[in-house]
Amino acid sequence: MTFEMDFLKILGHISNFTKDTTGVPLIDAYFGPPDLSPDKIKMPLSPEKQLAQLDTLVDRSRDIKDELKRVAIAADLESLKVVVRWVSGEDISFVKLVEGIFGITPPKFTQKEIRKAQQAVKDACDTFPGHDVFEKIVKWEEKSKVSGDALRKIVTTEFVERTKEIAALFEKRVFTYLSTKVRNNGVIYKAVTDEPWAGYNYYQGNYTSINAFNVDETFNRDRLFFALYHEYEHHVANLFEEKYYRENKALDLCAPLLHTKRNIIGEGTANCAREFLELPIKGESAKLVRALTHLRNMVGLNVAYMQNVESKDDETVVEYLSSEGFLPKEEARKNIRFSKPLTPTGKLNFFKPYIYTYFFGKKDYVLPTYQKARKKGKLKEFFQTLYLNPYSRSTATWKTAFSHI
Ligand SMILES: [Zn+2]
Repeated sequence: MTFEMDFLKILGHISNFTKDTTGVPLIDAYFGPPDLSPDKIKMPLSPEKQLAQLDTLVDRSRDIKDELKRVAIAADLESLKVVVRWVSGEDISFVKLVEGIFGITPPKFTQKEIRKAQQAVKDACDTFPGHDVFEKIVKWEEKSKVSGDALRKIVTTEFVERTKEIAALFEKRVFTYLSTKVRNNGVIYKAVTDEPWAGYNYYQGNYTSINAFNVDETFNRDRLFFALYHEYEHHVANLFEEKYYRENKALDLCAPLLHTKRNIIGEGTANCAREFLELPIKGESAKLVRALTHLRNMVGLNVAYMQNVESKDDETVVEYLSSEGFLPKEEARKNIRFSKPLTPTGKLNFFKPYIYTYFFGKKDYVLPTYQKARKKGKLKEFFQTLYLNPYSRSTATWKTAFSHI
């Protein structure tokens, strides 16, 4: 049995295990051979055996010739060991969990850092109507707020139209640098409810996706379209991964995962879609959008820290997010779900460490490298590496993969 085949098989076992225990499969999409699909596994494998097999694969991975592939897979295996230990009930602190999976130490931003980010928001909305910043922000967001049926309608109609423009922009700003074409059978949009996230790209294989948006949430139009670009970029990244898998018979790539160092780059890249497509934030409130996004990202990460390290209860956390992030309490209550220790049904919340991928993926990896490439006239090298070499897309390989930029 080849390394790739054994790797894929253990992914299936772990995925079934995380699905049974937490409700969420580790494998986020599958477009590999039907007989190796996780659904075809009959006998579950104990966590002890999963860990032993991961150790064996760590040893065998040393023989992989391609350096980026070897490093990316070795990092995946280490992250997966932590996932198995965590899901099997081992007592791992939240800090060790996030460090073990993503190599990121969960920060707690200081009051001074939060105040500075709040000051930028205050400055940006200085001339807006309202008594204080909180009121100014709430009034301003009220103007472009969409929720419920109106949101459902946008997702199923306007998104479809807008996607044609986004696809054309990808051709013009990104694919033009690539030496090869990728098949794209398009995206189907769905409005969903009762999910801990705002949007999700369910890659279906055969070059198509279902992009789901959570209509329980309230969006302002800017955040809504940001979510659209984000999810569409996931679709594009998956198209290239599937293409690479099919052309190179790379079995290790036909089952994209949650919870490896690749997700930091995956989310960082999706969060850079607006930059890649050169879509400016329009209007007089552009500065405010940027300042508020930055503030809420920081406050959101502090919320995750308060929930999982300091064991603060929901009310404390909602109060904090609302007052520090200038967010009405009912919206704050929805926003804290993603990083809560447990799901509403009392299961382990599989997503909680994942919150760290978005902010650091963009800030520490994808955006600075993209900006550097732009400045040096190396966008061709940047996009070719990012989309044509799937093994560049891990924080374990990023520096080496982009060392020519
Ligand atoms: Zn995403």
